[in-house]
Amino acid sequence: MTTELGRRIARRIALGGPISVAEFMAEALGHPTLGYYRRAPILGAAGDFVTAPEISQMFGEILGAWLADRWQAMGRPGGVRLVELGPGRGTLLADALRATRGVAGFHAALELHLVEINQTLRDRQAASLAPYRPSWHERFDEIPAGPLLLVANEFFDALPVRQFHRAPHGWVERMVGLASDGETLSFALAPGITPFARLLPEASEGANAELCEAACGLAAAIGERVGADGGWALIVDYGRAASGPGASLQAVRDHRGVGFLERPGETDLSADVDFGALAKAACSAGHRVRAFGPVTQGDFLARLGIRQRADALKARASEQQRHAIDAALERLIAPGQMGTVFRVLAVGDDRSAAPAGFSDPT
Ligand code: SAH
Repeated sequence: MTTELGRRIARRIALGGPISVAEFMAEALGHPTLGYYRRAPILGAAGDFVTAPEISQMFGEILGAWLADRWQAMGRPGGVRLVELGPGRGTLLADALRATRGVAGFHAALELHLVEINQTLRDRQAASLAPYRPSWHERFDEIPAGPLLLVANEFFDALPVRQFHRAPHGWVERMVGLASDGETLSFALAPGITPFARLLPEASEGANAELCEAACGLAAAIGERVGADGGWALIVDYGRAASGPGASLQAVRDHRGVGFLERPGETDLSADVDFGALAKAACSAGHRVRAFGPVTQGDFLARLGIRQRADALKARASEQQRHAIDAALERLIAPGQMGTVFRVLAVGDDRSAAPAGFSDPT
């Protein structure tokens, strides 16, 4: 049994023909009333996934220290747009802002802007970030001009991707059409060679590839803004360091992998972030813009002192809390866990040297 949204997508295909995987993903996640990200709850034990800021306060605290350092490197401007893309429950920024209360002048220089399409999560964010009086936006383009400090954790993986398959005669696009019953959603390959072929990697027959137009478009908009008004962006997500062949789309419901076309609107769809493509898009769009990384989340957090932070928290914790802090630290930085699966990319105006976390201290 599919969903109401599944039936609507099938009707659209019956009338207009197959749609791209990206169009399917955009509809399944972002449909104004029935899309997955319009509904709640999606985060935490009751939802479909648990994110780093929900694992430990240390994650947001470390990112807060990074943001405050970048503000100082920018020359402590006023009127800084502190932007989070997809803030979830607002935990990351609440921890970041609490940890930076002592940085003279920092909070007074900030204006909080949250990009979020989920009304229930907007309400949660309003509760966790009330003292900072945030404003909300549907899209990054709506953020008023001015110096930028931006964070995005597990946001870019939710942006739609196109998928391609290397057929004997060349790259063809994988589409979403209908099975022979005329109702069930089903994958089909477009017959002709795709006009996107020149953007796809060299690969032998049978290979797959993905292109993230929406993610690259957003990275370009961020690069352009940073180039024009100054600032820094920090993007944290799972993904690959450089572009290359491969298919990464995944579908998760109730913490389990499920079919990609099953129950649209009730299933979390995501793809690995192509950090190489994001860095290229950001740098080519903005004047004097540079990208740093990606580095692994484990290296980034360790260089910024997460172990020392854990020790400080443990010094005033109960035995049980000390175990919880160690377990959270392990999950965030250990190889094979989030420590190597997740990567961190920074984009900024290149007047400054590599920011903290992107090279070993000398
Ligand atoms: N950053 C948070 C939440 C990650 S989940 C954390 O780390 O816990 C993804 C977040 O992005 C959710 O808040 C979701 O509602 C939001 N989101 C997803 N797609 C979006 C879109 N196209 N525009 C704006 N927000 C979106």
